[in-house]
Amino acid sequence: MWLAQRVQRVRPSGVRKIFDLARKAKDPVNMSLGEPDFDVPVPIKEEAVEWTRKGFNKYPPSGGIPELREKLSAYLKARGIFCEDVVITPGVTGGILLALMVTLDPGDEVLIPDPSFVMYEYQTSLLGGTPVFFDTYPDFTLREELLRPAITKKTKIIIINSPNNPTGAVCSREELEMVARIAREKNILLFSDDIYERFFYEGESAPPCLGQLCENVLTFGGFSKTWGMTGWRVGYVAGPKDIIDAMVTMLQYVFSGVHSVSQKAAVFALDHPMDDVIEAYRRKRDLIYDGIRDRFRVVKPKGAYYIFPEVPGGDGDSFVERALAHNLFIIPGSVFSRRKSHVRISFAASEPVIVKGIEILRSLA
Ligand code: PLP
Repeated sequence: MWLAQRVQRVRPSGVRKIFDLARKAKDPVNMSLGEPDFDVPVPIKEEAVEWTRKGFNKYPPSGGIPELREKLSAYLKARGIFCEDVVITPGVTGGILLALMVTLDPGDEVLIPDPSFVMYEYQTSLLGGTPVFFDTYPDFTLREELLRPAITKKTKIIIINSPNNPTGAVCSREELEMVARIAREKNILLFSDDIYERFFYEGESAPPCLGQLCENVLTFGGFSKTWGMTGWRVGYVAGPKDIIDAMVTMLQYVFSGVHSVSQKAAVFALDHPMDDVIEAYRRKRDLIYDGIRDRFRVVKPKGAYYIFPEVPGGDGDSFVERALAHNLFIIPGSVFSRRKSHVRISFAASEPVIVKGIEILRSLA
């Protein structure tokens, strides 16, 4: 009776549903998680404790503490990423919400690849925008012939996420150049969700990102994945100054600011190397891919920590039900997509869990 109409535009995340089931299960083989399986490195925790003790516990400036903003700005510029200014946000989740709040008018369309991270669709709908999807199956690449027809006069934003949740795909330079060219031609703003920027498994150097290719772009990043700081809620958004300024103003009313001590810890974390962890994730990627590739039609993930196979028979929902009956927790592809033929398997898990998971997956295929 009291609920606003916008509540009807969102439903509880299908990911959460599986998490909750896994929490209640005894010894679950949990390959549903969207967060790293390692804890925050000890020196980062100590930094946070130290700042708490020193009394850094008051309201922080709305746009973020200056040393974190400056450090991130230098970090992004050194990578050739367009950054007139940067704002600290409560995770990328808060960053995308604020960015949509200051750019989206009711009825504006937001182009989103299918499959993709669920949040983009719901935040767009919540703010009165219209999510419009373009297909990336079967290999999860961005193709001009599918992207272009989805553009209308109302298209305001295109959201790209590379490395990708849920597919593990990493966009090539050619794909990103195509998107940047179309966005320039049609005067569209690009959102580049780079949260998995360090999780790449092919080649030594970081994959390209949209922020390196144009100036009509907001780059989103954060500390949740690389340093396992999911609970600390620190993210950032970089891009054109007028948009960042508007986000800082909006932040004052929506969140007030981002947790002060977490920001100090983030300043420290940015210099903390995580190469060993990424190397371990490359091994996990190889383990799961080699373990299932002869039974499932599957694209080898090049980044993030997800693999997105098509299930035999093409019904991912019922496949997940069967997996649950064997205590294996994975997410139906239909949570991320208009299709239900695939499932998302997270390899952010220990090697014994992955080995057990492979055994169950093979027995179900
Ligand atoms: N973007 C993508 C693609 C994600 O997969 C996630 C978390 O799973 C987020 C953003 C949320 O990040 P944060 O913890 O910074 O809000």
